[in-house]
Amino acid sequence: MDIAKRAKELSADIVSLRRELHACPEVDHELPLTESVVVRELAKLGLDDIKSNQGKKHGVFATLKGSRAGNVLAIRADMDALPVKEETGLPFASQNGFMHACGHDAHVAMLLSVARILSEQREDLPGTVRFIFQPAEETVYGAVSLIESGALDHPKVDEIIALHTGNIWRGVAPGRVGYRAGAMMAATNVFKITLRGKGGHGAMPHLTVDPIVMAAEVISQLQTLVSREINPFDPAVLTIGKIEGGTVNNVIAESCEMRGMFRTFDIKVAAFLEERVIATAKGVAEAMRGSADVEFVSSLPPVINDKAITLKMRDIVNDVLGEGYAQELEFPSSGAEDFAIYLQKIPGAFFFHSAALGGERDYPHHNPKFDIDESVLWTGAASLAAYALQR
Ligand SMILES: [Zn+2]
Ligand SMILES: [Zn+2]
Repeated sequence: MDIAKRAKELSADIVSLRRELHACPEVDHELPLTESVVVRELAKLGLDDIKSNQGKKHGVFATLKGSRAGNVLAIRADMDALPVKEETGLPFASQNGFMHACGHDAHVAMLLSVARILSEQREDLPGTVRFIFQPAEETVYGAVSLIESGALDHPKVDEIIALHTGNIWRGVAPGRVGYRAGAMMAATNVFKITLRGKGGHGAMPHLTVDPIVMAAEVISQLQTLVSREINPFDPAVLTIGKIEGGTVNNVIAESCEMRGMFRTFDIKVAAFLEERVIATAKGVAEAMRGSADVEFVSSLPPVINDKAITLKMRDIVNDVLGEGYAQELEFPSSGAEDFAIYLQKIPGAFFFHSAALGGERDYPHHNPKFDIDESVLWTGAASLAAYALQR
């Protein structure tokens, strides 16, 4: 069968599902409306198994057994939106204060049509396909809760693929699939530093220990970790995004709190930086007669794509959609993805699907005016379905 033709025929359905989901965004782990749409659509397809709301956390996974022999492939879509107030002015814009500002509505719509295409092709389908609809990607805990619910078991999943649509990688033409073997997305480590001093009068600093001056010194020293201690050929970035301390101009505060994160592409570099952030904050604070508590709040490993799976997808995309539809990405993204958690367990690959609107209509992901070119979503669905059929 002509997968591209079938996916294109389903384009209007993909768009209408995406709009339905776009109008009712939900965030984090609690996605009852979204999950009900997914279950409603999957129920039409005669799948072998549909599991939803496993345990406490929402999420759906379903299984389709093909008629031919083969391994078990999982295809994952994330379903959650963001606490962003939509300003697109679209007729199907969200009214509930949340927004699908990252394109996950399109991921769900695409994966539902992949399930539809593959259920129609059961006779030609090798092995088994597990469809995973995951909550809480933005808060990075969704993959963990779905894996704990058994999304990679019964039967045991051998490999996993997923894509992200939108305009993350500029320069990839709409409807094309960006691929990259090896590092695809960054590891992220999020930390909180609390600096403690001794409060007092701003005019008599010698009787106090000033945590604000301490913070200034710690921030400067943290900026030297990437520039002076990391191999220039190991990409890394460290940002302090929030600092909070003090009340008025003439009072020296008791404490000051900072929140920051670093991104890397190698868990060894991440482990080194974690150690050095702690040592730097504590060392500087102690040298200034204060103290520092450093807490690592959350972390994700990098998304490292399996080479064989990545290149297989490249060939399948070029074959099914046309030569040049697979575009190699020159650089990984410094963004992070909890898809990395699946890749800690089994091999897989993460792809980029461009649905860029072009020019001034392209707002960044997570922006209140973010939107996508719906007319090309079918190429993402075609790519995933073709991979399942031709692997
Ligand atoms: Zn996203
Ligand atoms: Zn996002």
